[in-house]
Amino acid sequence: MTKIIILLGAPGAGKGTVAQYLQNNYAVRHFSTGNLLRNEVERETEIGLKVKELMGSGALVGDDIVNAIVERNIEAVLEGDSIIILDGYPRTEPQAKELDRMLNGTLRNLIRVLSLDVDAEEVVARISHRVVCEKCGNTYSDLEGRKQCVCGGVLVKRKDDEESVVRNRLEEYRKSTMPVIDYYRDRIAVVSGMGTPMDVAARVDDTLQQFGIEKRR
Ligand code: AMP
Repeated sequence: MTKIIILLGAPGAGKGTVAQYLQNNYAVRHFSTGNLLRNEVERETEIGLKVKELMGSGALVGDDIVNAIVERNIEAVLEGDSIIILDGYPRTEPQAKELDRMLNGTLRNLIRVLSLDVDAEEVVARISHRVVCEKCGNTYSDLEGRKQCVCGGVLVKRKDDEESVVRNRLEEYRKSTMPVIDYYRDRIAVVSGMGTPMDVAARVDDTLQQFGIEKRR
């Protein structure tokens, strides 16, 4: 049966790392609105040109644009018995309501939510060390001393990881995304994102088991 896992968490809470872990260990498909939007910016499409500045400043892109991108792309990943990781969407309550309306309201019952919870100081410390692969979007800490991604891509700093931009993103999270946590209160598991990636992975495994999702053998 199709299932949709929504990953929520402040910037730097570890959504990207958890998404990578899930892709490596579970039969899931990754769906990231951040990646879809960055792709539009790179290709300098009409949407890309519209959202470039907003994204660079740490503000959220308008609900209409994001909802349209999701609606256009989600059906393709929903084929068969897939488990979809929704990474970075919905980020506002209107987006959550729109997701409920998509595909004739068939998605609501498939949704489970995993919210990563991390202290504010830890978030800032993590983001200041974050580097991302230009080619596949994998994230690493520059403390690891890596020069290249496992895929061979070059590791760079994300433009929206500068300190002032991070502050805006955290404020956007508090104002716009925290209400989404409440919206899903009947289907959410809050997981501590503190500690090492292995600590977090163990908690994520427990939560997925509660959601009835087994690890890939
Ligand atoms: P992410 O890679 O998920 O951190 O997203 C990077 C940026 O893309 C965000 O800071 C927003 O500007 C934009 N973005 C991604 N997903 C959404 C969304 N669901 N709603 C609004 N803006 C989004």
